[in-house]
Amino acid sequence: MITIKNLGKSFGTVEVLKNINLEIDKGQITVILGPSGSGKSTLLRCMNLLEVPTSGEVIFEGYNLVDKKTNIDSVRQKIGMVFQNFNLFPHKTIVENITLAPVKLKKMNKEEANKKAKYLLERVGLLDKKDSYPSQLSGGQKQRVAIARALALQPDMMLFDEPTSALDPEMVKEVLDVIKELAKDGMTMVIVTHEMGFAKEIADRVIFMDEGVILEDGSPEDVFINPSNKRAIEFFDKIL
Ligand code: ADP
Ligand code: MG
Repeated sequence: MITIKNLGKSFGTVEVLKNINLEIDKGQITVILGPSGSGKSTLLRCMNLLEVPTSGEVIFEGYNLVDKKTNIDSVRQKIGMVFQNFNLFPHKTIVENITLAPVKLKKMNKEEANKKAKYLLERVGLLDKKDSYPSQLSGGQKQRVAIARALALQPDMMLFDEPTSALDPEMVKEVLDVIKELAKDGMTMVIVTHEMGFAKEIADRVIFMDEGVILEDGSPEDVFINPSNKRAIEFFDKIL
């Protein structure tokens, strides 16, 4: 689904990602872990070109995102992204938040988009909130709307950047449950999270990174139970 080759990213003179190589298969669920500032968000953002790599290639479904000839907008529609802080449009209703992009991009007419939005809201358990505004929803509800919104464009891959970090503890589960449902449907997902129990349960693959380098990459058992890297061992000791 996505192949990352010799990816480097610098901000000014600071090298944030160093020679990252990664291949993610269709249907695979990859969890990325690592200390704050290790480059997790930057790596995720390079996967849909929200950050432009300084060097290397990102090839998604055969399209090289770094190639100027690639129509990045159309490729990006195939990659859904969910952020820590929801990023909903505050002055739009919940259903409008979901229909806006598909209609604007002419993927659906208004009626189809509305139908799809209602279906997705039903799936995340929020159909009754369709005419509310984001400010009227709890954090967990907002994040479920953000997931529904990302799904409205029918992506082939979903990227989650700490989707539960901004939530009160009692709301974490409702969001993780929605992500688990997506996993059952075979969605390809890359998830940055500190929720270790969830990672163990859902991940096919766990990547540990630090200082812009991938230090561990394997099954949850390999990475959690037998990490070989010293920094990974220290990190897991602190959070497990
Ligand atoms: P993580 O998500 O693992 O916490 P990030 O990818 O957000 O790490 O950040 C990695 C490093 O890159 C940090 O040192 C951060 O300060 C730096 N960084 C991230 N985005 C920018 C930016 N837009 N400009 C300058 N530095 C940035
Ligand atoms: Mg981050």
